Order: sequence, then C-alpha cells, then structure tokens
Amino acid sequence: MKTPTSRPVVLCLSGHDPSGGAGLQADIEALLAQGCHAAPTVTALTVQDTVDVSDFRVLDRDWVMAQANAVIADLPVAAVKLGMLGSVEMVDTVLDIMRKLPSVPLVCDPVLRAGGGGALGRDEVGFAMRERLFPVATIATPNLPEAQILAELPNGTADQCAEKLLPYIGHLLITGGHGDETEVHNRLYARDGSLHTFTCQRLPGSYHGSGCTLASTLAGRLALGESLTSAVESALDYTWRTLRDAEAPGHGQYIPRRL
Ligand code: PLP
Repeated sequence: MKTPTSRPVVLCLSGHDPSGGAGLQADIEALLAQGCHAAPTVTALTVQDTVDVSDFRVLDRDWVMAQANAVIADLPVAAVKLGMLGSVEMVDTVLDIMRKLPSVPLVCDPVLRAGGGGALGRDEVGFAMRERLFPVATIATPNLPEAQILAELPNGTADQCAEKLLPYIGHLLITGGHGDETEVHNRLYARDGSLHTFTCQRLPGSYHGSGCTLASTLAGRLALGESLTSAVESALDYTWRTLRDAEAPGHGQYIPRRL
C-alpha cells in the first residue's frame, strides 16, 4: 500500500485537444511537472491543430458524471481544475460534481475560444459559469479578452472587468498575455479590494495551451497546500518558463514545453 506518500490528485474537467498543446494533455503535463497526479475527465472532444479549431463535440452529461464519480469514489481529490466545458448543460453537470467535493479548491479557466480564435463554446456558457460556477470557485483565470466577455464590457480594462466580476467570485486572476505592451501585467484581484500585479517580460509569438497550463499548475499548487497568492506566483513563473522554452512543431502556434 502506497497511500501515505501519494502525490496530490487534481481532478481535471477539460476538453481533449488532439494537437496536444492545450486541453487535458496540457493539464496532465503541467500537473506532472508540479509533482501532482492528474485525473483527466473528458468534457468535450475537439478537432484542431496548432492553427485553429474546426469542430468540437460536448460529451453527454451521463458520461461526464460517470467518469467523475469513478474518480471521486476512488481517489482523494485535493483540487479541481475546470477547462473547456462547451455547453450550459456542462456547467450544471460540473455544479453537481462539485456538490460531492465541498471545500475542495476549484480553479476555473473560463475557456470560450481556442488560441487561434475559434469558438469552444457560446458566450452563454461563460455567463452560466459566471452566475453558477464562480460562486463555488476559489479563483478564475481569464485572460483579458475572456474577462471582457464574462463582464460584458467589450472594451473594458482589467480593473473594470474585475469590478464587475468580483461580486460573483472571491479571487480573479486576469492575465495580460494577449495585449501588446512590452511587459505583461497579470493582476490578481480579491473581493476584499486587494490587488497584486505580477509583471513579466512579453515573449514573442503566440502560444497554444498557455491558459490551460496556468490554471492546472495553479490547481496543482493549491493541491500541494500552497497559499493562494504564492500559488498564483508559482503558476505564473512556471507558465512563463514553458512559453520561453516552447516549440513550434506545426504550422501555427507554439506549444509550451511543460516537461
Ligand atoms: N481547452 C481545449 C480543449 C482547447 O482545445 C483549448 C484551445 O484550443 C483550450 C482549452 C484553451 O487553450 P489556451 O490555453 O490556449 O487558452
């Protein structure tokens, strides 16, 4: 029996990306690199390459519940990471799953677009996440374009989006990687009014799976018992290094090198 020394288990409810850059593969690799064990539970399948997504199919609720139930009945889930959900029904399915995991930290990456811009869910999925999942989540990790959709402020600044979203969630990390300033400002907002800004050098190129890498690393760090602010800083640092070392195996975006 090996239980006393097992690595913390992170339940990942995310989509599958056959290019291996984003989605569940990103989660598994990032979590392995933190010394955690990923329990990859598929919410959706996508058809895509490193350029863009051409199609996706959301799994039936029963299949997702059955996968999650199998994991929860067997493994000590220490944190949950949400990625692509793909439908409003899947938001409700995740809520039902989280009822079985009260007080387990939940990191929500509100995935609505692939790195190449293709849709991975209608904006209504984001609004359902905001209304129903944010209240049970520890933190959400939107990039600024995602935060603008969620806050329904198309040209809003990070501060304006945070003000609109913090009534729904205790902590919000709005990343700045999609802008064009020479430095990237990643801002961690808390409902108590505190703000931490983490600044890093902008790297050239565009990346496939950076948001997945960040959110799963953050979930892993929380599963390891790190405090929230420290976990955010560790996750941002690790993600930056995976982008610095990224590879360009295909015709499109770079794939983060996570291991
Ligand atoms: N989840 C899945 C299944 C995806 O296919 C993608 C992008 O293609 C994402 C999440 C989001 O990727 P990123 O981390 O680049 O925002």
